[in-house]
Amino acid sequence: MNIEALARPEIVAMQPYSSARTEAPARGILLNANEAPRSLLAGAGLNRYPDPQPQALVERLAALYGTRPDQVLVTRGSDEGIDLLTRVFCRAGRDAVLICPPTFGMYRIAAQSQGAAIVSLPRSPANGFRLDGPALLAALRTDPGIKLVFLTSPNNPSGDGVGQELLLELLEQARGRAVVVMDEAYAEFCGLPSSAALIDEHENLAVLRTLSKAWAAAGLRCGAVLAQPGLIALLRRVIAPYPLPSPVIALALRMLQDDMLERQRQLLAEVARNKTALLETLAGRTFLCEVIPGEANFVLARVGGGVNSGADSAADPAAALLAFCAERGVILRGFPAEPLLRGYIRITVGTREEIAALSTLLDEWGQRR
Ligand SMILES: *Cc1c(COP(=O)(O)O)cnc(C)c1O
Repeated sequence: MNIEALARPEIVAMQPYSSARTEAPARGILLNANEAPRSLLAGAGLNRYPDPQPQALVERLAALYGTRPDQVLVTRGSDEGIDLLTRVFCRAGRDAVLICPPTFGMYRIAAQSQGAAIVSLPRSPANGFRLDGPALLAALRTDPGIKLVFLTSPNNPSGDGVGQELLLELLEQARGRAVVVMDEAYAEFCGLPSSAALIDEHENLAVLRTLSKAWAAAGLRCGAVLAQPGLIALLRRVIAPYPLPSPVIALALRMLQDDMLERQRQLLAEVARNKTALLETLAGRTFLCEVIPGEANFVLARVGGGVNSGADSAADPAAALLAFCAERGVILRGFPAEPLLRGYIRITVGTREEIAALSTLLDEWGQRR
């Protein structure tokens, strides 16, 4: 079976937009794209449209993620990959995406803006919100409307990874029916192998990677979809003609040079050490009834009710603690829109100093109760 049979027919049928830069390489006297003849900022080259998929960056990302260059689509972060996949595979009012909340919020937003239905398989707080593999397989088996399965490994915010055995079962179950999306935004922080190695064998697998988290470059807005060329070609039909600004391309190439690999390793080691320190400072706090360490650069914790509980914290016991910290300049993440995470807070692993500042605030909070 061909991946096109899973895509929206109108996307397969449409004549893709052909930009000036795709029709002719940026060489010679360029009078084809209505650009200005010179840049107002010397040397920046900003007067020219950028390469839609700069080969050097594509090759670098392919090497980094262990794929072939024709299996890479560079995107404005993983958020864009999520959006493109949803637009290509989900017909409004007919198709559905499968998600396992609590998870990354953008899957829902992408589905809703595309008019796709959301099949939701909630994770249970009883086991730290770990993914329920058998339930996932059963849902996929029984619901033919599901076109996209969003998996996150490690998951945000529970931090659990998706084992390769389950992924293989899902890919088999979904064959000819749905695309399985593995969002590996936090993969560098955990020990699991990337599922990019499975792309050659599975045309219905798409892997999302990003420079936003472990490459310390959220401001760059650079990520990639990894998949077989057929799937990449479908996504290229709906992506903006020039998704990557030229300064971003230049900075991403700089970011991924060999000398940065060692710096990135040091950063990952530092985050791992600081995470241990964060977990130590959270341990034994009586107002936290549960701490889920997970395998990424954040932890999830459940805040118990207590004498400090005002009207706010009666609705959500985490709200008072979040407000207390925010008033003192430390911003933690609450989840007011996610009923499953009532009472939970997510804490990103920061620097040693930031963890010490948080620790002081938690001491103060503990004494007030
Ligand atoms: C942060 C995050 C992203 C967003 O990545 P960008 O590349 O910055 O768009 C994607 N998926 C998950 C699970 C995330 O937590």
